[in-house]
Amino acid sequence: MVDRLAPILPGSYLGILGGGQLGRMFTQAAQAMGYKVCVLDPDLDSPAGSIAEKFIHAQYTDLVALKEMASLCASVSTEFENVPAQALDELESLGVFVAPRSSCVSLAQNRVAEKKFLATWKVETNIGPVPHCVIEREADVEHAPVELFPAILKTARMGYDGKGQMNLDTVNDLLAAWNEFGRVPCVLEKRMDLDFEVSALVVRGYDDAVVAYPVSQNIHRNGILHTSTVPAPSLKPLQEKKIIEAAKALICKIDYVGVLCIEFFILKNGDIVANEIAPRPHNSGHFTMDACVSSQFEQQVRSMARLPLGDTRLLAPVSMLNLLGDLWFEGSEDLAKEPAWDKVLSHPDAKLHLYGKTVPRMGRKMGHVNCLGESINQARQNCAAVASELGIEP
Ligand code: ADP
Ligand code: MG
Repeated sequence: MVDRLAPILPGSYLGILGGGQLGRMFTQAAQAMGYKVCVLDPDLDSPAGSIAEKFIHAQYTDLVALKEMASLCASVSTEFENVPAQALDELESLGVFVAPRSSCVSLAQNRVAEKKFLATWKVETNIGPVPHCVIEREADVEHAPVELFPAILKTARMGYDGKGQMNLDTVNDLLAAWNEFGRVPCVLEKRMDLDFEVSALVVRGYDDAVVAYPVSQNIHRNGILHTSTVPAPSLKPLQEKKIIEAAKALICKIDYVGVLCIEFFILKNGDIVANEIAPRPHNSGHFTMDACVSSQFEQQVRSMARLPLGDTRLLAPVSMLNLLGDLWFEGSEDLAKEPAWDKVLSHPDAKLHLYGKTVPRMGRKMGHVNCLGESINQARQNCAAVASELGIEP
């Protein structure tokens, strides 16, 4: 039996690497529970940095900054999945409790490593990665299996919100696409015939307890999440059970402490394949903020503070609508104006969350609205009504 460390109690500082919207919502959850928060981000204008008790403006690998963070915080987590593993290792060597650990974060940072891991997971759960091959050198391009086409070429690192991806119709397009990516390591994935997409959100505590939220059904537009609906309207109960069991097995297998999201594709033939893993709270889990007993950010606080986890129970059906910077430019390409939030709030079931980003840009995530309802259909109707108030296409 390993000696367990004591919980880190409210009043203490918790640290977060990354100051984006996920860091901001983490900060709000931590502060609500009586913690102080230290945010480290290379960007001076960061949504989390502007509300935290302490903001360290530095690169993730800045040793002086990491030492400052370590002197303040007994525990650090990450909101940005591309935080260099060495920053997490450095904090750990300075005596900080880092949750999730760097090896878990690294796994999700590189699509090649992630796919390899998902292939081993398939042995246990029968859910594997999308058919793919690795493109690292010219010979890989020459030998790319034709049965993967039509395909998607994805850079191994730094992709998000559909960035770092190219659709390829035939194998003849591959070399040019890889050249365009600067010949960096990539994975070539078969473009799957999706029926719909879902994600599983699981949390593992320091005490080894594992909890799961109900699975959300996600709609993407241009590679960016558009809506998440819970309970997942198209998912069969047996499929949901299988997905949750597999996600729980995965989080234990990698000895992960914290919040983890796994995205899945449900194919037209009913098969389930795993798309990718996020080692942090996830956009598709924002519904938990208003529709569950404990939000994903509260769970991040609890797990990194070595506290017992909270209840994941869904209190009401919900549909989350993402708010992109595009909304600020309705009718005008270059003149940004504030969307009509009063109209959104004329729907009493709509819960508005804005991230305090000062500059709206097309495709930039600026906020979200959780639309609750007494039934799944009502939640979706409320979501459609809010979307229409904002001029978002149905
Ligand atoms: P990101 O890191 O940008 O979220 P994803 O790999 O999750 O990258 O891709 C974003 C979206 O693109 C997915 O949610 C899905 O809608 C679509 N997509 C990605 N890969 C495939 C694929 N192999 N087949 C079909 N659709 C895909
Ligand atoms: Mg994704």
